[in-house]
Amino acid sequence: MDGALTERERRFLALADPLARRFAERAAQHDADGSFPHENFADLRAAGLLGLTAPEECGGLGANELEYTLTLERLAWGDTSTALALGMSLSNIGQIAEGHLWPDHAPALFREVARDGAMLNAAQAEREMGSPSYGGLPGATARREPDGGWRLDGRKIYTTGAPGLRYFIVMATVHEEGQPPRIGDFLVPSDAPGVRIEPTWNALALRASGSDDVVFDHTPLPDDALLSARTPGEPDPRAALGLPWGSLTLAAVYTGAAQAARDAIVHFAATRKPTALGKPLGELPNVRMRLGEIESLLLASRRVMLGLAADWVASPDARPALRQQAPLVKVITTSNAVRVTDIALCIAGGQGLQRGKPLERIFRDVRAGLVNAPIEDVVLQNAGKSAVDAAITSATVSADDSSL
Ligand SMILES: Cc1cc2nc3c(=O)[nH]c(=O)nc-3n(C[C@H](O)[C@H](O)[C@H](O)COP(=O)(O)OP(=O)(O)OC[C@H]3O[C@@H](n4cnc5c(N)ncnc54)[C@H](O)[C@@H]3O)c2cc1C
Repeated sequence: MDGALTERERRFLALADPLARRFAERAAQHDADGSFPHENFADLRAAGLLGLTAPEECGGLGANELEYTLTLERLAWGDTSTALALGMSLSNIGQIAEGHLWPDHAPALFREVARDGAMLNAAQAEREMGSPSYGGLPGATARREPDGGWRLDGRKIYTTGAPGLRYFIVMATVHEEGQPPRIGDFLVPSDAPGVRIEPTWNALALRASGSDDVVFDHTPLPDDALLSARTPGEPDPRAALGLPWGSLTLAAVYTGAAQAARDAIVHFAATRKPTALGKPLGELPNVRMRLGEIESLLLASRRVMLGLAADWVASPDARPALRQQAPLVKVITTSNAVRVTDIALCIAGGQGLQRGKPLERIFRDVRAGLVNAPIEDVVLQNAGKSAVDAAITSATVSADDSSL
């Protein structure tokens, strides 16, 4: 996998590597006090990595899915929280660029991202609605004002990276006189009047990710802040594109984190010599077997993740099939990351439970992958449905042949 890196991939990894090491040194403190790692984002900005996925013609680095995944995975090795917040911004930018979305706004947005290292993220989830992916109507509202603009009101939860964002892409119910409600996406600068971040994120996992509440209180917006609108029940135009940026982001974040857990436990197994044993734990057959399981899980994760990214880039004809695979890759890699940290903790014994150690933090962090959308239950049900639907419509299955 790493043997065949291109010159560009090597260049991006060379930028990411020293930053990942620096993030690792800062991670315990930010985890302990739940603070947002602004200095990590200053480093990423200085390295140009906040423009990693912005198009080159707008001054960005123009990374494709494979270049992006490799780079984000490396950064996640240093700090999972930083990587998730970074990945949310970079994947939104990559998706907007590849999907040719919002042509009136996108070029200026990309230039700001590349020039200033501006970050953006979607603010969709709400306490009552939960995830918008199940089709609920947002409680946040955007009402048409007499001057032709909008007034935005509402509260969003779990807005990852909130303290560092320049723009929120806010999902709200659109109310206009004489028209039925629609669901709209609005581009909202973080310094618009009435925008407030409430530091509510005090969670088990990803404590430094700034996944806070954002409140919009009579926020005035210009007419063209509305990026797109649809009637309830219609598919979200961004989700309908079926681009793999979101799945690859979560795969890279949690695989990079699991790799850091693996490195920590291998080092421990090679150096910890209990007195009675008189040699490193790693010489015990059962410890070796558990380490071997970690190696196999990580190999599988990296193969499916980088395989999806590489195929997406190299084989446009294969994209319809790859779109179906992307959510499964998210599920495989996040559950493998959870399993890797479970096994690592079994090997580590009491030291693995100690606060301030990387393993204990990463053990907690990767559990967020189980909650990040799309969740496993939905992905597996969809995959199972596709398999059965295909078999039902296939000529090889008939009503009078139901044998195995
Ligand atoms: C670390 C983290 C970062 C996040 N970052 C962002 C972000 O940046 N922007 C953003 O907009 N959102 C973000 N989210 C929100 C996330 O994408 C989901 O929208 C949110 O977690 C859903 O709310 P809930 O977990 O409270 O689930 P609830 O809605 O309370 O549901 C509980 C559980 O039931 C499942 N469930 C609920 N309804 C259904 C249904 N109809 N069918 C099947 N299963 C269902 C849910 O998936 C969940 O597992 C983030 C979440 C986390 C944990």
